[in-house]
Amino acid sequence: MRNVQKSSTKREERLRELVGLINKYNHEYYVMDAPSVSDDEWDALYKELQELERETGIILPDSPTQKVGGAVKKGFRKHKHLFPLLSLDKAQSVDEVRKWFDGIKSEFPDAEFCATYKFDGIRLVLTYDKGTLVKAATRGDGKVGEDVTEQAKTITSIPKELGKWKASVEIGGEVMMSKANLPEGFKNTRNAAAGAVRNIDPSVTARQKLDFFAYELNFIDGMEMKYVLAMKVLERDYGFRTMLPRNWKGIKTFEELERVLVEITAERDTFDYDIDGVVISLDEPIYRAELGTTIKFPRWAMAYKFEAEVVTTKLLNIVWQVGRSGKVTPVAILEPVELCGATVTRATLNNYGDMARKGVRVGGDVVVRRSNDVIPEVLGIVPEIPRDARNDIVDINECPSCGTGLEVVGANKFCKNQNCGARVLEKFSHFVSRDCMNIEGLSDKTLEVLISKGFIKRLGDIYRITASELMGLEGFKDKKINNLLDSIEKSKNVDFARFINALGIPNVGKKASATLASNFASMEEIRQKMAKQLIELDEFGEVMAQSVVEFFKVNREEVDDLVQFLELEHKKREGVLLGLKVCVTGTLAGYTRSQLAKALEELGASVVDGVSKTTDVLIVGEGAGSKLEKARKFGVRIVEESGLVGFLGGVSK
Ligand SMILES: [Zn+2]
Repeated sequence: MRNVQKSSTKREERLRELVGLINKYNHEYYVMDAPSVSDDEWDALYKELQELERETGIILPDSPTQKVGGAVKKGFRKHKHLFPLLSLDKAQSVDEVRKWFDGIKSEFPDAEFCATYKFDGIRLVLTYDKGTLVKAATRGDGKVGEDVTEQAKTITSIPKELGKWKASVEIGGEVMMSKANLPEGFKNTRNAAAGAVRNIDPSVTARQKLDFFAYELNFIDGMEMKYVLAMKVLERDYGFRTMLPRNWKGIKTFEELERVLVEITAERDTFDYDIDGVVISLDEPIYRAELGTTIKFPRWAMAYKFEAEVVTTKLLNIVWQVGRSGKVTPVAILEPVELCGATVTRATLNNYGDMARKGVRVGGDVVVRRSNDVIPEVLGIVPEIPRDARNDIVDINECPSCGTGLEVVGANKFCKNQNCGARVLEKFSHFVSRDCMNIEGLSDKTLEVLISKGFIKRLGDIYRITASELMGLEGFKDKKINNLLDSIEKSKNVDFARFINALGIPNVGKKASATLASNFASMEEIRQKMAKQLIELDEFGEVMAQSVVEFFKVNREEVDDLVQFLELEHKKREGVLLGLKVCVTGTLAGYTRSQLAKALEELGASVVDGVSKTTDVLIVGEGAGSKLEKARKFGVRIVEESGLVGFLGGVSK
């Protein structure tokens, strides 16, 4: 009996401690904009507290589980919200989503749902009086927030007037900063956006490039609409960006929902904004009203968070992967496990030093996490399970591909053999890839065959491949051969930046290649530069500059041999639109497509066919469709025909 007593006192102590800690962290987060713990740590503590409260039945009066969090910062006027601002209940796993989903379906079998991106930004509520923006406020504690109207007015994606229907509404949404605009000194875009919005001086807000995405529309007269319709009104009639996914579909079954979760999870890293989950909302307002809310959460919506999902699984084996640079990386082969809605069988172990430090051993259980990078990573081992003494830490001293002794550089090991089979394959594989020479039909498998037959040794050999050589290869028939040779031929006209990227200069990626291409007129000019001159380029450090100099010293002949086949295309180095990637969609009244393309190119812009996240501007005419949606998704600047004269005049560059 005494033991039970003691342990329940202990639990009470822990409970008090947790309440104190979480309240402190909440203050740091909401009031100071200076969190000292990560969201994951906070989530873990919060969950522990919830469990303790359930087990002990004790809920302290100041427990953070009973309030929404946040308080008004000094210096701002208070704003009392018209509608209470609730937060969302969170599901950490697909299974938790399923329970909630099934619960609603059992009550309302014909219920439809809508899934939207969950952006990780600063919640803002905008009040419009007969179509005019009169107030913007932060969430605060859910009842009272800070009046940041002047700050919000500096955000260009917040309309000051609602185009259509001069309605009186409250619009909720998230202020976001794109990853590209993250200023130095900030850990994440959320903190940076918070600092900008909650600055007393609106000119500070204006200096940061902020965006606003809407996800809530409340009519002050009480009119209700279906969730998806409300989003469409926000987008089409009011000119907001919303969080509806590109291929929005109504969701009726859990299978459909699961597919959407996987899709969004898979594309999350392609976004210019930080999204940390998916929000699933019930579409019908009548059902929403019937379900109602708890003290904190609406019962009709759920946030599925995919931030740092972590699972435990068995480590089956460790294999070594040789990269283009010769770096040899250990890769964990795992017992298949569900992680972030996908089955994971491999995870990176980063390097030998990291692996040794974590004590990773084959046969043991490891904790795998999928973080912001697409590649899952082994976080560490499960400590409760005793390490099996027979399984030593796996190490490697020879290249798994060519057998050359590895060189240790810091925590990493390198194969320095330039002719190493794995390295050569990686080199060609990079060269032909989409961001480089974009040669279709040269899969790794085909490259491997061409290398083993001795047809390709140096990069230039790609342009020496003949039909008769291909004829003898397995699976190569006339059509396939023609397609491949065609694709190789087409790649000869190549943009200078792509070409530099294709060379695979160590430490020089796509962005640095573009920087080199826009600063120098020719290969020769780059070659003549010394490291100390290259360092002066934007975002060029010593290592990168040294890599460039070293690369051309070592590979001079191979590059010369390659260049003779190619027609390097240099972008214009002048013009008010220099360096901008512009896409045109829809029908324009004042221009034909080719007239406009010519005008854009003369001003230095490059005209591209599709919208991607690297596109800078989309020019939109009548009847624009998927490209416009995509541009919105990626946060690409949109110019309508009415704004075209100003744009071409360079006014808005
Ligand atoms: Zn090797």
